[in-house]
Amino acid sequence: MRVVYLDNNATTRVAPEVVEAMTPYFGERYGNPSSMHSFGGQVGKVIEEARARMADLIGADPGEIIFTSCGTEADSTALYAALGTHPDRSHVVTTRVEHPAVFGLAQHLEKEGYAVTFLPVDRQGRLDLDQAAEAITDQTAIVSVMWANNETGVIFDVEQIARMAKAKGAVFHTDAVQAVGKIPINLRDSAIDMLSLSGHKLHAPKGVGVLYVRKGTKFTPFLRGGHQERGRRAGTENVASIIGLGVASRLAAERLGEENARVAALRDRLEKGLIERIPAAYVNGDPENRLPNTTSISFEFVEGEAILLFLNETGICASSGSACTSGSLEPSHVLRAMGVPFTCAHGSIRLSLSVYNTDRDVDTVLEVMPDVIARLRAMSPFWAERSEGRSG
Ligand code: PLP
Repeated sequence: MRVVYLDNNATTRVAPEVVEAMTPYFGERYGNPSSMHSFGGQVGKVIEEARARMADLIGADPGEIIFTSCGTEADSTALYAALGTHPDRSHVVTTRVEHPAVFGLAQHLEKEGYAVTFLPVDRQGRLDLDQAAEAITDQTAIVSVMWANNETGVIFDVEQIARMAKAKGAVFHTDAVQAVGKIPINLRDSAIDMLSLSGHKLHAPKGVGVLYVRKGTKFTPFLRGGHQERGRRAGTENVASIIGLGVASRLAAERLGEENARVAALRDRLEKGLIERIPAAYVNGDPENRLPNTTSISFEFVEGEAILLFLNETGICASSGSACTSGSLEPSHVLRAMGVPFTCAHGSIRLSLSVYNTDRDVDTVLEVMPDVIARLRAMSPFWAERSEGRSG
């Protein structure tokens, strides 16, 4: 069965060029970059090349790049660094729609005694900047707002919120795990202090991430021990993955223009085609400010998980907007925060594309999905009721 992979916000295919560049580091080039001998030292030099490529992609200096084990570690490091270096401040500002890497940590910090403000979003998943400005005070240690949402693709005006944080002496961090490689990012003249990203969302392998820390930002490490990453993140480097991330960064920079425009056109055709072919289907999130590769669609009166199972039978990989929590099917916290009605939130799926998707993939989904939704609705008493209501 041909796989149609439309779950690229969950993880991406490792680019063949990345695999090729990594392979020697599992074989003959196994040295430790911290070693005194040149066998290891040569590996250190290649890591520095990867750091430079990574920095180029986001308009940073190589010295501002700290390699971590994943996006989640970068997020935790950022929040704990800001709290650790501002012990006189005990307030955190974030949003109700963050990925659990920040959302879960913020909830934990609340339990530890920090005051946390979770900024609300509107029906289209947008933040109210006035509300953000009001929430940030001179007690705020850190403002952490994601650059782009992993479920809906909605993009926030992080630059403006960063300036608000700066004005109050707070650190500004953004979880840009979904944004890097999909939209242009230039941190050179930015007010952003810290930024997290993750390799496996941009065609590098799982298990490598980055925390960008602007030069001059107060910092305290999350992992202490050895002197790796100039003492900012102890632990022997994940050499092969870092080298892979360097290559993936170069590819992402090359693909930001034309290739991403092609992905956006595919996404638009997919989205439009589904809305035209299927009744009571709605797109979630601000259509103006969205990642080029993501669409979140609600199909009223069906279960997202059931759609995924049916799609799975035909080789289509997607993801639902909801998570199963202890046996009860809870709609996602993102859609709930947006006030998406229960009947829609339950039937939401996310389709996320990459440069490896083709027109044929879109055609397959457009062919399969109307039948999947019709079959599921045929089993739904609520859909029958709704249809009777309409005709009666
Ligand atoms: N932040 C966002 C917005 C994400 O989408 C993800 C992964 O889905 C993460 C953080 C976590 O990244 P990682 O899997 O590298 O820990």
